[in-house]
Amino acid sequence: MKTWERNIRKVVPYVPGEQPKGEKLIKLNTNENPYPPAPGVRQALLEMDFESLRKYPDPAARALVDCLAEYYGVGADQVFVGVGSDDVLATAFLTFFNSEKPVLFPDVTYSFYKVWAELFGIPYETPALDKAFLIRPEDYFRENGGVIFPNPNAPTGLFLDLSQVEEIVRHNPDGIVIVDEAYIDFGGESARKLLDRYENLLVVQTFSKSRSLAGMRIGFAMGSPRLIQAMNDVKYSYNSYTMNLPSLALGTEAVKDEAYFRETLEKIVHTREKAKKRFQELGFTFPDSMANFIFASHERIPAAELFSALQRERIFVRYFDAPRLSNYLRITIGREEEMEALFAFLEDQVSGWKP
Ligand code: PMP
Repeated sequence: MKTWERNIRKVVPYVPGEQPKGEKLIKLNTNENPYPPAPGVRQALLEMDFESLRKYPDPAARALVDCLAEYYGVGADQVFVGVGSDDVLATAFLTFFNSEKPVLFPDVTYSFYKVWAELFGIPYETPALDKAFLIRPEDYFRENGGVIFPNPNAPTGLFLDLSQVEEIVRHNPDGIVIVDEAYIDFGGESARKLLDRYENLLVVQTFSKSRSLAGMRIGFAMGSPRLIQAMNDVKYSYNSYTMNLPSLALGTEAVKDEAYFRETLEKIVHTREKAKKRFQELGFTFPDSMANFIFASHERIPAAELFSALQRERIFVRYFDAPRLSNYLRITIGREEEMEALFAFLEDQVSGWKP
C-alpha cells in the first residue's frame, strides 16, 4: 500500500436505491412520488431566466426560506434549507452531535444515520425496536450525545404518536433531538407543533416525497433560531451556495400550490390503504404504514425470492439484506395502475409457489 493510500479516509458508504433505465418498468424502490410536481413548477421551469444562470444563487436561499416560514407559520430565522434532507441531516449531525456520549437512533431505521456517524467520528448506540418494530421511547430517556429518528420510521412506515415524540424531547433537555419527517405528509402529525416549547428540537422534512421533487434535491429543517443559526454557521464553513437557482425557483412554486399538494397526497394515501387490503389477502404481513411505502413479508415465500422474481418482471422494489429485515420488501406506493400490475404479478407468484 502506498503512503498516500494509507491517508485516504475509509468509509462504508450508504447505498442508494437503483435508478433503472428503460421504458417498460415499474419503479417502486425509492419512495418517489408517482405523480408529477405541481403544474406551477412546470411553468416556473419554462419561464426560468436562462441568463440568470451566469450568476451565483442567493447564498441565504431567502425566497425559499421565506416561503417555507410563511407556509409553516414560523420565523424565517427558524428555517434552514439544503440539498435534499440528506444534506440537511448531514449538516445537523456535523453541527449538533459533538459530544463524547453516544448519539442514539433505532437499530432498524434510515441506514444513512450510521454512515454519517462513522464519517464524522460520532459515537452512537442503536436501541432495538420492539418485536412489532415500534420505537420504545424509554430507550431514549438516558444520557446521550443527541437523538435522531424518522417519524414515520423507515423502512417500517410506523408512526410514533406525537405525545411519545414529546416524551422523548422532554426527557432530553441537555441534547438535541432531531425528528426526520421525510414521510410525515402521508398521514402523521408533525413535531413542528412542539417547536414553541422546545428549543432543542429540530424537525427535518423534504420535497422529495410529498412534493414530487426528488430530482430537484430540496430539504429543510425547522427549529429554534439558535439551532438554525448554528447550522448556517456550519454551512457557511463548508459550502455557501448549496441551493442552486432552479431549486430556489421551483421549490417555492411547489409550496404555493396547496390544492395540488393535498390532492396528490390523498391519492397516494387512498392507494396505500387499498394496497394494505390486497397485501393482506395475498398472505403478506406488514407494519401499519403511515408513509408512502409498505414494508411487507410473505407468510411462505422468502422475500429474496420474490425480489428476484419481481426484478425479472421489471418491477423494482427495495430489499435489505440485513438482520431483522431480510424477509421483507419495501414497496413504494405507485399509481393505481402500477399497483394493479404489481398485485397481478404477486397473485400469480403466490398461487404458483412451491417450496
Ligand atoms: N430521511 C429518510 C427517512 C429517508 O427515507 C430519506 C430518503 N432516502 C431521506 C431522509 C432523504 O431524502 P432526500 O435527501 O431526498 O430529502
